[in-house]
Parts: sequence; structure tokens; C-alpha cells
Amino acid sequence: ADRAAHVRTLIRDVPDYPSPGILFRDITPLLADATALSDVVAGFAAVAAGLGRIDLVAGMEARGFLFGAPLATTLGVGFLPLRKAGKLPPPVERAEYALEYGTAAMELRSGTLPAGARVLLVDDVLATGGTAAAAADLVRRGGGEVAGLAFLLELEALHGRKRLEGHEVTTLLRVG
Ligand code: 5GP
Repeated sequence: ADRAAHVRTLIRDVPDYPSPGILFRDITPLLADATALSDVVAGFAAVAAGLGRIDLVAGMEARGFLFGAPLATTLGVGFLPLRKAGKLPPPVERAEYALEYGTAAMELRSGTLPAGARVLLVDDVLATGGTAAAAADLVRRGGGEVAGLAFLLELEALHGRKRLEGHEVTTLLRVG
């Protein structure tokens, strides 16, 4: 419990970032702390242990990479980066999703996801759930099966879980 409290204190609230009225949760102090970083990865590994067979970990760009890659090595599986549009060489699978203004797209390198592979998706923060819903869609479109989604921090007021109904969603920490 003390260790969880320690992790929590290392997620800092930054008001009015990246735009006025937004309260940003900054995880960089947590990343810089050896104990907190390894506790978070161990927390994700414990989540994975309850999800049955995991063949790959997928991380959402960019902060999903920071936990996803060490989690993959902990589990002894490979890592799949789900990248913002235009970063991966073709061929790619692509999922578009709505932002507050306009749309964004996420891409997966075709051929890196074996058919039927069970994938655990990882990111730092679950906010509206739009990013995670697109990521889950992308994995399914690429021929994989979503074993579950795991997040460090859930912003409950934004109801991201609703966008992920039908999936196994686990969050290590929650704020209202
Ligand atoms: P959503 O699509 O659920 O609204 O937003 C989640 C995505 O935006 C995640 O990839 C996450 O990294 C990023 N994000 C949204 N809000 C925050 C925040 O307050 N702190 C951090 N660290 N990331 C956020």
C-alpha cells in the first residue's frame, strides 16, 4: 500500500496543460524513480497473469511504449508499437478516431501481428477511451485478439471504460 502511495505521489497534476482548463497528469517523476517504475511494470505483469495466454504486448504511442516494452520483456513476449499516422513504413493497418477537433489515426505494421495472437494493450492514462478503442480496433483488424487493456491511471470522470465495453479493462490507479 505504501508503494502504491509512493507511485501516486509521483504523478503530478499540471493545470492548464496542454491547453487552458485541462488538468494534465504528468508521469515523468514516476519514470525517473527506480522503485516506482519497477513497481508499475510489476503491477502490469500481475494484471497480465490474470488474463490467460498473452502472446504480445502492444503499446500506444508514446507513453504506452515506456511501460509496454519493459512489460513485454518481463512476460517473455514481443512488443508491438501502435504508432501515430505516418511513422511506420508501409504496409500498415490503420484505425481512425475522433478527437475533440478533427480526427487522428493510429497504425500497426502489417505482418508483425500473427493471426490469432492474444495481445495485451498498455497505456499510461485512460481518459475518454478514444485512443484505446482505436488501438483495440487496430489489433482486431490486424487479425489479433485483444486479451485485455491495462492502464496506469484511470480518469474516471471521463468514462473511458464505456468506450471499451466487452473488453477486460484494468487500471492500477484511479482518480475521480
Ligand atoms: P483518451 O483517448 O482516453 O482521451 O486519451 C488517452 C491518451 O491521451 C493516452 O495515450 C494518454 O497517454 C494521453 N493522455 C490524455 N490525458 C492525459 C493526461 O492527463 N496525462 C497523460 N500522461 N496522458 C494523457
